[in-house]
Amino acid sequence: MGSHPANEPILNFAPGSAERAELQAELKRQMGEVVEIPCIIAGEEIFTGNTMTQVIPHNHGHIIANVHLAGPAEIADACNSAVAAQAAWLDLGLEARAAIFEHCADLLAGEWRARVNAATMLNQSKNAFQAEIDAACELIDFWRFNAFYARNFHADLQPLVSPQGVENSTEIRPLEGFVLAITPFNFSSVAANLTSAPVLVGCTSVWKPSRNSVHSNYALMRLMMAAGLPPGVINFLPCSGQELTDVALANPNFAGVHFTGSTAVFQGLWQRIGQALPNLRSYPRIVGETGGKDFVVAHPDCDRQGLLVALLRGSFEYQGQKCSAASRAYVPQSVWAAIKEPLCEEIGKIKIGDAGDFSNFMNAVIDQRAFDKISGYIERARGRDCCEIIVGGGCDDSVGWFIEPTIIETTDPKSESMVEEIFGPVLTVFVYPDDEFEEILQLCDESSPYALTGSIFSSSEENIQTAFEALRYTAGNFYINDKPTGAVVAQQPFGGARASGTNDKAGSPLNLLRWISPRSVKRTLDIPQEWTYPFLAED
Ligand code: NAD
Repeated sequence: MGSHPANEPILNFAPGSAERAELQAELKRQMGEVVEIPCIIAGEEIFTGNTMTQVIPHNHGHIIANVHLAGPAEIADACNSAVAAQAAWLDLGLEARAAIFEHCADLLAGEWRARVNAATMLNQSKNAFQAEIDAACELIDFWRFNAFYARNFHADLQPLVSPQGVENSTEIRPLEGFVLAITPFNFSSVAANLTSAPVLVGCTSVWKPSRNSVHSNYALMRLMMAAGLPPGVINFLPCSGQELTDVALANPNFAGVHFTGSTAVFQGLWQRIGQALPNLRSYPRIVGETGGKDFVVAHPDCDRQGLLVALLRGSFEYQGQKCSAASRAYVPQSVWAAIKEPLCEEIGKIKIGDAGDFSNFMNAVIDQRAFDKISGYIERARGRDCCEIIVGGGCDDSVGWFIEPTIIETTDPKSESMVEEIFGPVLTVFVYPDDEFEEILQLCDESSPYALTGSIFSSSEENIQTAFEALRYTAGNFYINDKPTGAVVAQQPFGGARASGTNDKAGSPLNLLRWISPRSVKRTLDIPQEWTYPFLAED
């Protein structure tokens, strides 16, 4: 195995830095334009005239793009163009395909960085740092490491044995047909990776971006085209998910889906694929990363200041809209007595507002539906005897969809906000007696259907091991003395099991392997000329 790439360094955008000035100028430029976003099918721009807008969540009166939506005819064309493009894409070979995505990474690390970061800040309401770790660094890492992994497993998958007279080999074929990439709003990197990972190994794709991130995702589509992606290999198709699946699953060449989003949508999709099976040429690959109810469990012997920081950052960065965000915490009485006030005090210092104002730690939630859903959880908690809102709770959607960082303290560990995914800046804390650590681990394991991320805080190895074993299936990404967010490609491959997904670990070879369907080849050099076997001979 050759030497592997390094993780992309994170720019810090400190006052006076060149990157800060460049990003601010780009934000201003993008604020001053309204982009017409077409569908892109077989490399052609299609302006359908059936449009919806993209607004800035922290300033929702401001339109940044008009999106031309695909209807059934364009969806059918996109699927067919992906199928038509596959043979030439495969002929190009792994090395040339990998080079295109490495070029994508170089463009994103250089001249495209500010454009993509600014689009993500405006379209998804991320601060500069949150955009940088997502849209720039994580995606650069996905592209570089995936190319590295693909080269290596192509060699590793060759047969170990070729006896005398035989040559064995494995052809690493991609899936036959097109892959649907159905992508979430919250990470630009995830959207582009869901689309490009199957394509790197020879599949072709139809990409349906989330209705809330078309502007930033379009910039990434343009970047891939600028890097030399041939027409038809990825077809960019803003449209309704329902219409997409109606048309795509009726096409016998549907070969798989690479999904990230909510559990309910993924489960519905899986059921519809099951119904479509009799009409399909292949059994499709179904890869999906879905919701979470990510936990922090503290032991009485934990580092209290470390816990405070992890709860604040883990719960409230990007407004809690990370699938990995901490949203339930189990804190022993002695620790809670020490950190409750300072935690609320620190949360009181958080500034919320426009992503273009770099002093804001938090920005807006993604849209009115999210605002209503999250504020509904807060209002219901307010009305419950078992719950107390100890900090935050304020919501204001007059200019942007702003929700204060909120902590609900509850005496009921199964109360609604302790077990359901809220996907907003709301942390619920259950305070437990100091001597019930093992019971609390069991409660944590059993309380929620999800199993995405989680953290244990303790300073003793024995307690950490107890939690490690008790929570084996409670999280696909497990953190010791850290917040449960911020997985890095090639360091903590990401994914969860149970209701959180198929755990195919984006940013690792495990994910890429789902998009291949190898052909085993035996070449016989000494061709048998006699059909009988020795045992048939008479004594
Ligand atoms: P979502 O489920 O609303 O949408 C995801 C995608 O599915 C979008 O492109 C959407 O348009 C599409 N979709 C919606 N209905 C559909 C249908 N009937 N048929 C086909 N496609 C349909 O999710 P979201 O709000 O964009 O993202 C937030 C969710 O994603 C959260 O639940 C979060 O936990 C999850 N998420 C998980 C991970 C992970 O790695 N586990 C990462 C990011 C986000």
